[in-house]
Amino acid sequence: MMAASRRVGFVGLGLMGAPMAANVARAGFPLTVFNRSPHKAAPLKDMGAHVAMSPMEVAERSDVVITMLTDADAVGAVLAGDDGMLAAAGEGRISLDMSTISPEQSLALERLVEEHGWRRLEAPVYGSTGPAREGTLGILVGGDAGVLATCRSLLETMGSRIFHMGPMGAGAVAKLAFNLLVASQFNGLAEAMSLAVKGGVDARAAGEVFLATAVASDLLKRKVGAIVDEDYTPAFPLKHLHKDLGLMLQAGHALGVSLPATAAIHETYTGARSRGLGDLDSIAVYRHLAELAGEGAGR
Ligand code: NAP
Repeated sequence: MMAASRRVGFVGLGLMGAPMAANVARAGFPLTVFNRSPHKAAPLKDMGAHVAMSPMEVAERSDVVITMLTDADAVGAVLAGDDGMLAAAGEGRISLDMSTISPEQSLALERLVEEHGWRRLEAPVYGSTGPAREGTLGILVGGDAGVLATCRSLLETMGSRIFHMGPMGAGAVAKLAFNLLVASQFNGLAEAMSLAVKGGVDARAAGEVFLATAVASDLLKRKVGAIVDEDYTPAFPLKHLHKDLGLMLQAGHALGVSLPATAAIHETYTGARSRGLGDLDSIAVYRHLAELAGEGAGR
């Protein structure tokens, strides 16, 4: 059990990282934060966190350093780039990486940190910005059970369900498998809505029908409203789901698992991202499909 006196670092204060770090601070852990774009650290400073000038400074002041970054390249950069975490003197720290990356990338990062005397735990999350704020994320851990035991009370400040999926890589692949279900629901809703609207049905009426049926999930309930209101404020940016779809295909290729529908959805998301929709919410894939169907701005 990690006492709240254990020093925690947090690198990556984006849509997810900022509210997660705030929950760590509220729980009383001594916290040092860093974000590449410094202005995002201001609210954490107001909560009493120390704002570091570099990832190296975060590591120097921490026993465990959480990373919540876009992708594996970003995690590699904050670990091994200029003034990176691994440049900090001393050994025995834990790199607690909560970013969504592939199992192969996670294993490569484990080798990298172990060369510097660190240990690694992968802990990607499900749930979006709402659960991140509420501290109710689901956390899919891969790695050593002893390291997880050390980090459990810290993880409990951010999530309400913590699953130990197995060794390093198991948490990463479980997260990708879950996101495959998310992507197929988003894509299915967007295609269904495009068909109905182009066929002359009002989006709100179509949405009411979808949500009255057995296919209605909590996810669809939220996203039907976003389509009807044309509100694509990002909770889970489209560019990140596009990245994850690519990681699913990579993992499938590496494991010899055929994912034909995922490949098709990846192509759709490539098109949506190329047309400038990457910073909108993932359900903006509807806008892309609706425009291809000649439905104007998405209706
Ligand atoms: P985000 O808002 O785009 O934040 C990304 C963070 O990564 C920012 O702090 C960004 O810094 C930093 N970053 C990117 N490249 C970097 C680099 N080369 N060096 C240093 N920092 C870098 O993303 P997010 O939504 O918080 O997602 C973070 C991770 O969680 C992703 O892996 C995503 O797939 C996963 N995830 C997201 C959700 C969700 O609903 N949003 C849910 C579950 C999992 P700047 O501020 O300087 O750009």
